[in-house]
Amino acid sequence: MKKALTLAIVTLLVVTLFSCNLFTDTINWYSIILKDQIPDPIYRSGTTLENTSTKLSLILYNVPSHEYPAYVDKCMNEHGYSNDIDSESYYFSASNSSGYRVIVIYNVDSNELQIILEAPEQSNSEPSNALQDISNDNTSNTNEEQSEETSPPENSTPNVTSPEEETKQPDQPSTSQEMVWIPTNGGKKYHSRADCSNMKNPRQVTKEKAIEMGYSPCKKCH
Ligand SMILES: [Zn+2]
Repeated sequence: MKKALTLAIVTLLVVTLFSCNLFTDTINWYSIILKDQIPDPIYRSGTTLENTSTKLSLILYNVPSHEYPAYVDKCMNEHGYSNDIDSESYYFSASNSSGYRVIVIYNVDSNELQIILEAPEQSNSEPSNALQDISNDNTSNTNEEQSEETSPPENSTPNVTSPEEETKQPDQPSTSQEMVWIPTNGGKKYHSRADCSNMKNPRQVTKEKAIEMGYSPCKKCH
């Protein structure tokens, strides 16, 4: 019975220790990307919720309450988090001159210290890029506008030529003198075809001219 009891106690101890190890991970501070921007916490058993180049969020377990003001003091005095301070009991939020903002929250009931660090919004550079893009768009737009401005003359030139064509077109019907063929060696008929009536070396003249010269229409081809 004693052996069974000791075995039960040992297994119970092992299980509790194992479970404790499961729930209290030790944060490897060197794995924290933004570790240089905040004080090293003395108590490092906890969980890393977020660990990126732009945001750090971690919860430290089993932290005594006196560690909260000590850590806040380090934040202010060692890392310059003294701008835009928003402080309540066990809540501290401030930013430094580099634009980093730290938030320290202490939970008195669970003895958890939560540390949140936000990097300066890299959207500061992104909007400038966006502005550059916009400016590029503006220049491209102006280029397009310029090209559009140059294109209307191109469009206007056809408009100029088209009136000329319109002026020519009415002229052509009025001057559309029907051309006829007249014989050069005898005959008083003008023909619409050069090969009509076995003409040799026919001359092409206007119908008006042919009539003026005394020619009359050929009955075969007219
Ligand atoms: Zn004829």
